[in-house]
Amino acid sequence: MATRQMPEIRRGVTEAERPRRITVLGATGSVGLSTLDLLERALGAYDIVALTANTKVDELIEVSRRHRPDVAVITDETKLDRLRAGLEGTGIEAAAGMTALREVGAREADWVMSAIVGAAGLPPTLEAIRHAPAVAIANKETLVCAGEIVMAEVAKSGARLLPVDSEHNAIFQVFDYDHVDRVEKIILTASGGPFREKSSGFMETVTPAQAVAHPNWSMGAKISVDSATMMNKGLEMIEADHLFPVGAERIDVVVHPQSVIHSMVSYVDGSVLAQMGTPDMRTPIASCLAWPDRMDTPCERLDFRTLGALTFETPDLERFPALALAQQALKSRGSAATILNAANEMAVAAFLAEGIGFLDIARIVEHCMEKISFSRLDSLEHVYAVDQEARRVADTKIAAIAG
Ligand code: NDP
Repeated sequence: MATRQMPEIRRGVTEAERPRRITVLGATGSVGLSTLDLLERALGAYDIVALTANTKVDELIEVSRRHRPDVAVITDETKLDRLRAGLEGTGIEAAAGMTALREVGAREADWVMSAIVGAAGLPPTLEAIRHAPAVAIANKETLVCAGEIVMAEVAKSGARLLPVDSEHNAIFQVFDYDHVDRVEKIILTASGGPFREKSSGFMETVTPAQAVAHPNWSMGAKISVDSATMMNKGLEMIEADHLFPVGAERIDVVVHPQSVIHSMVSYVDGSVLAQMGTPDMRTPIASCLAWPDRMDTPCERLDFRTLGALTFETPDLERFPALALAQQALKSRGSAATILNAANEMAVAAFLAEGIGFLDIARIVEHCMEKISFSRLDSLEHVYAVDQEARRVADTKIAAIAG
């Protein structure tokens, strides 16, 4: 991947002297807040260009007052007055809506964190890729629903895409880009989620509160449910397929309940390189913030004397059908992953709203993948059309299940 040079902003001020300009898309979420925490603690000089949120206006006001961005954007336009009032006297611009969100993705910045959850992150992330020299991507749904188009933009713009997801960041750290043909396999590790040892009968009745209680990681609600269904690992296989050019058949998953090894790359000589650490997203975020350097973090360190056994299992595709569906989408390519992602977003939202059961999530995704025929994705408009169709089909199925 070619890397674009960061532009000099003021005459007489060199790149090394001026503060880095940073945008955080999804600043009120789990990844967004961890990013701001690291910036505050460790990075030294930085200016925030933009912070964004969806509906949590009070949280956006709070982080904006603390971090002083040029602009704060709330997607929910009904919250604009509240945002304006909360930022009065700060000089921070307030904006709302999807257009404003897309526009801040395009504002001049040195480094953009893409941490919106879901396909809603696609438009501003694409703008960031077109305009910023470095984009840290946590928003995996963007790569899942429109990977070919996103990666074509990356190639065109020369932006450096830095993977934030702990698995992809692990692979990024040990991947030999100069000898891709010597990579035998990428091995994504999966914690197995809170229901790793539970029966399908048990999962039929679980509540949202049980599903979001991840044993190792503290994350937003949607990714926590995805981890519980193991759809998350399937989305990550598709994400890995776009980020690391080894071919879908070389991407493997192993369950590793301790979440110490974050992923591995095995090479043709039998060497397996792994990246390890305690399960704290601030480590992969710090790796992206400081890349190609390293920065200090307050994350707990691994203590090998007290760690105990590291264990590994084969994923159970029967109890976790969402993973099998994602593997099917990975194999089918084209719009299959767009359908899978949109249906999953709708189903997870319905489950969190207590409209459907936990196992209905995979049933709804399967239904959409059967109902809608797959096609080659040739444009962004095509992606949006497929996404909308899948959401319509999922909505009808959800209504039928919810009765
Ligand atoms: P959260 O739910 O905690 O936060 C999501 C952020 O996106 C919030 O700022 C939210 O705003 C904003 N948002 C939600 N919907 C929209 C929308 N329609 N338009 C604009 N903004 C929106 O998610 P996470 O931080 O957990 O995850 C973010 C992304 O990172 C996901 O793609 C996830 O898969 C990925 N990821 C997360 C990890 C984690 O540890 N959390 C680990 C690896 C990957 P508001 O607060 O107003 O709702």
